Amino acid sequence: MGKALIIGCGGVASVAIHKCCQNPEVFEEIMIASRTKEKCDALKSKLQGGKTKIETAQVDADNVDELAKLIEGFKPDVVLNLALPYQDLHIMDACLKTKVNYVDTANYEPTDTAKFEYSWQWAYQDRFKEAGITALLGSGFDPGVTSVFAAYAQKHYFDEITEIDILDCNGGDHGYPFATNFNPEINIREVSAKGSYWEHGHWVETEPMAIKRVYDFDGVGVKDMYLLHHEEIESLANNIKGVQRIRFFMTFGQSYLTHLKCLENVGMTSIKPIDFQGQKIVPLQFLKAVLPDPASLGPRTVGKTNIGCIFKGYKDGKPRTYYVYNICDHQECYREVNSQAISYTTGVPAMIGAMMLMTGTWKGPGVFNMEEFDPDPFMEALTKWGLPWKEDFDPALVD
Ligand code: NDP
Repeated sequence: MGKALIIGCGGVASVAIHKCCQNPEVFEEIMIASRTKEKCDALKSKLQGGKTKIETAQVDADNVDELAKLIEGFKPDVVLNLALPYQDLHIMDACLKTKVNYVDTANYEPTDTAKFEYSWQWAYQDRFKEAGITALLGSGFDPGVTSVFAAYAQKHYFDEITEIDILDCNGGDHGYPFATNFNPEINIREVSAKGSYWEHGHWVETEPMAIKRVYDFDGVGVKDMYLLHHEEIESLANNIKGVQRIRFFMTFGQSYLTHLKCLENVGMTSIKPIDFQGQKIVPLQFLKAVLPDPASLGPRTVGKTNIGCIFKGYKDGKPRTYYVYNICDHQECYREVNSQAISYTTGVPAMIGAMMLMTGTWKGPGVFNMEEFDPDPFMEALTKWGLPWKEDFDPALVD
């Protein structure tokens, strides 16, 4: 069917690339382009021999001209951005320049401020419309599948959704006292930021980790979870009409929180550059360098993730609740694609998002969040490509 240019070759990209190679009818040719070409070549040598033709390239995704040249040479149908959120706008600029569709998994963040919002990317709406190309934002699990779950609930089960609770549980154990399951810099910026939720048309801000709940997760068991700000709240508040409250909770173990507090207290999570032996370093970037590489956690992580959404609302005038979620086993993921479940649950929807655009199943000029398209083909693809989902019409609710 076509060609995809995949930017980045870290934990998430590795899973998405494995999945593209399992799907050669759609992904006839891929190019893996990243900052460190050796990583792209190593993955290529693991995967070649299948039907998907693989090329590799070195690229600095912050250099729009260099990237545009690469796109012009390879002529992909879609650019799948699996680098870091800092690169989003540069890659969108290169897509505009070359008129190629764009997909990512995380919203843009400036390097010097831990600020998570869609305004920067939504500002590309008119330019993408004029260029006649599609930008699909946030095609990971959360955001991504959680947004598709919301569209599915709205389409099939509710006349009006009034409340959404997104629950992200990682019951996995990697055996280290402290490590993060995806890029440590991005992960720590996210969890050390202030929490917030959407209620009655405006944001309510909380101190980091100030709101805690306990939930009994199917397949995992009882876990502490904490309210965080999360990017899909912003787009769901726009796109799910009438919604009155949206919250996002993520589970954390006590050891993770104690380490994080200590690192914060000594200044290691700061993103303000400091002088160190004659050079400027960012403490959080230095911390990333000494923490275990998330890609190395695969073989040692056991247990399961459970991520999903609980909806409350009305159907035919009667109150209704609905919970839809996926359970994913770290070791099964490792056996299949050599990665743990966090990369897997992000990489699979990234491949599916790219596939939706390549097959024309989702199309239209402009910048879109996942819940704006028909959820049914994506939901079908989740089951087919390794992330089957379960439904519960009488779930325990979060108070
Ligand atoms: P990694 O750090 O493992 O991988 C990032 C990759 O991007 C690396 O290969 C890195 O190169 C490459 N890269 C970084 N900067 C550049 C650049 N300027 N030019 C070219 N390549 C670059 O991150 P993850 O795989 O864990 O995460 C990838 C993305 O997925 C992130 O945006 C993250 O926020 C998102 N994510 C989304 C989730 C969701 O559910 N929506 C969940 C988890 C992650 P090098 O190898 O040289 O370092």
